[in-house]
Amino acid sequence: MNINKENSLFNTKIVYDLTKFTHLDYPEHLACIIWFSGCNMRCDYCYNSDIVFAKSGNYTLDDMLKFLKTRVGLLDGVVLSGGEATTHHLIPFCQEIKKLGFLIKLDTNGTNPHAIKELLDLELLDYVALDYKAPKEKFIKITHSNTYDKFSDTLNLLLSSKIKFEARTTIHNDLLNVDDINLIIDDLTTRGYNKKYYLQKFLDTQTNIANIKTASKKFDKSKLSKKLDIIWR
Ligand code: SF4
Repeated sequence: MNINKENSLFNTKIVYDLTKFTHLDYPEHLACIIWFSGCNMRCDYCYNSDIVFAKSGNYTLDDMLKFLKTRVGLLDGVVLSGGEATTHHLIPFCQEIKKLGFLIKLDTNGTNPHAIKELLDLELLDYVALDYKAPKEKFIKITHSNTYDKFSDTLNLLLSSKIKFEARTTIHNDLLNVDDINLIIDDLTTRGYNKKYYLQKFLDTQTNIANIKTASKKFDKSKLSKKLDIIWR
């Protein structure tokens, strides 16, 4: 990347918001969260619609670096979230974060395996939280994005790397039932995933993309597969 392009990357408002402190979003670490504008999915249950539909952001990467310089020694890590952070070119920014000594966690829907491979190859990531949105048959219906194969490549990439990562799924009972989750668990274990699997309950903020309400159907936890250690959030 030439200097002009890199300057413009650092001076363009692509960050929607900054959470200055979290002890929940990066396992075992104190961190901040950088929320990147824009996403290449349109998940029905998504409550970050402002971020997803944002044409630009409110802060530049330079703004973020200025903030991070004030947190050296106080925070352990930086969470790159969104939106979908990998829709932006992250390498130069991650290199600057690393120079400040922070760990980097990436929250991703997994649709950019090439970008994630580059980040892994350059050892710029320390932890990845990968959304497993739905079984293949329901993937488009829930995400409105024909990207299951790309997600699948990312999952395989993470499984074949040494990176610490987690798979997680958001559940709205009318969209995903216990059989769907068991299909996901079967797929994960068949591929060799043996870590904790995180299930997140749908949060009705009245602002989700598809304007869906709290589910009418019940999720029968007693029928969940026991093949993985499941953690509810
Ligand atoms: S929930 Fe879906 S639409 Fe919302 S930010 Fe995540 S991937 Fe994008």
